[in-house]
Amino acid sequence: MKTSEIPVKHATRRYNAFGQYMKDLYREPVYKVNVDAGFTCPNRDGSVATGGCIYCNNDSFRPTACTSSASLREQIEKGIPYLRSRYGAEKFVVYFQPYTNTYAPVEVLERLYRDALDNPGVVGIAVGTRPDCVDEEKIALLEALARDSFVLVEYGLQSVYDKTLEFINRGHDYARFKSAVALTAGRGIHIGAHIILGFPTETREQMLGTADELSRLPIEFLKIHQLQVVKDTALADLYAGKPFATFGYHEYIVMLADFLERLPPHIVLQRLFAAAPDEILIAPVWSKTRSELLHDLDAFMEQRGSYQGKSR
Ligand code: SF4
Repeated sequence: MKTSEIPVKHATRRYNAFGQYMKDLYREPVYKVNVDAGFTCPNRDGSVATGGCIYCNNDSFRPTACTSSASLREQIEKGIPYLRSRYGAEKFVVYFQPYTNTYAPVEVLERLYRDALDNPGVVGIAVGTRPDCVDEEKIALLEALARDSFVLVEYGLQSVYDKTLEFINRGHDYARFKSAVALTAGRGIHIGAHIILGFPTETREQMLGTADELSRLPIEFLKIHQLQVVKDTALADLYAGKPFATFGYHEYIVMLADFLERLPPHIVLQRLFAAAPDEILIAPVWSKTRSELLHDLDAFMEQRGSYQGKSR
């Protein structure tokens, strides 16, 4: 069973890392159990659009052993013993990861989320979704669950610029994201956002401006990664027809350091890099392991005297 360990080893990092945040909150490491609850996506099934976001190939972010063919309970019941025996883990967050994990009637969502929380050691859930796939009823459900558990809703945003959202066929604009955040805020639910840096529609300064823009919203968690062109996507076709610049390795490390300096210190970083499997990755190819990426970022920030929030 493939699961993801939330990084916890580097308490001295120069940014506010999720693993350390959870360790402080629960006084011990908290491990993530990724599950696929069998959702689809309104940007693929025609309800918003067909074809999906132009960069989207769910295989690039879905762990191979995390498939909807196993029931939710089975996935959790396999994932937890694995983490227990490998890491001595005792506390877990169940991460509803692929596609749009609020895209079902609220009764179905309630059963799934409660099933996840109903496991010894599970302290909370993280729910990845789209900002156009929540409403008052669904947020009220998450609010009720958040009274007793850690509940994080992670909104895919990708860009704060409408021209980019249109380019990537996101199917919603930035205003929609802001209204979802407003609906969620102040109700005990943790709010996260996903963004991608490197779209050819944005200048470097615009990418950095994303940090300033997000800092004005009640967002507590952020996932960032470099744009990756992966096989079997519309972006791959575009790239083949007219290649555009993607981040070089060192260039992205510098970009991240600059971005983190402009980000308020309270925002918790859940992810800083993407790592699509080699067999589907077209560009950029860095051939670095996750620990190399994190190490090199730490080393660069230390050398530069850089830390999250420094430029605010
Ligand atoms: S919203 Fe998510 S799952 Fe749906 S097409 Fe876009 S990236 Fe893929």
